[in-house]
Amino acid sequence: MLERDGYATHEQISSRFPKVELLVKPKAVIECYENIPCNPCSTSCPFNAITIGKDINNIPQVDYDKCTGCGICVHSCPGLAIMVCEVLADKVRFKIPYEFLPRPIENEVWQAVNRKGDVIGEALIEKVSLNNRQDRTALVQVLVNKEFIYEFVTIRRES
Ligand code: SF4
Ligand code: SF4
Repeated sequence: MLERDGYATHEQISSRFPKVELLVKPKAVIECYENIPCNPCSTSCPFNAITIGKDINNIPQVDYDKCTGCGICVHSCPGLAIMVCEVLADKVRFKIPYEFLPRPIENEVWQAVNRKGDVIGEALIEKVSLNNRQDRTALVQVLVNKEFIYEFVTIRRES
């Protein structure tokens, strides 16, 4: 449990995802669990898909009718708490923030890692985007097995 050991439970994680039917298109998943004074996710979204409301401590809410899965909020969040998720036939495509070096390169296979830092499988690197507006937070697009939809959170290079 988040309050006790710092890890979100399966229920907490899955509650942040939209219905699987919606994930046939890429959608933002926001894992922001606590009331903190923060809003770059909301102000950065070009489609006004993220609402925080008058109190900046509110937890952000995504309007999935508006979200295009562009990924701008992913690299705009200082807490690295957002990813974009899209369900394919037997894989899930994620766009995740990545701030370590070396950065992955397209077509490499890295380790898929869960929220506890355990390796759960492989992640195929499809794309790595980084421009001046991203302030050194790369946007990495990866494919992982569908069974890891609520487990996968980041990548690690095999040592
Ligand atoms: S992925 Fe793009 S459209 Fe969706 S909430 Fe984030 S910034 Fe807005
Ligand atoms: S920018 Fe990130 S940490 Fe800040 S409110 Fe949005 S999701 Fe939470």
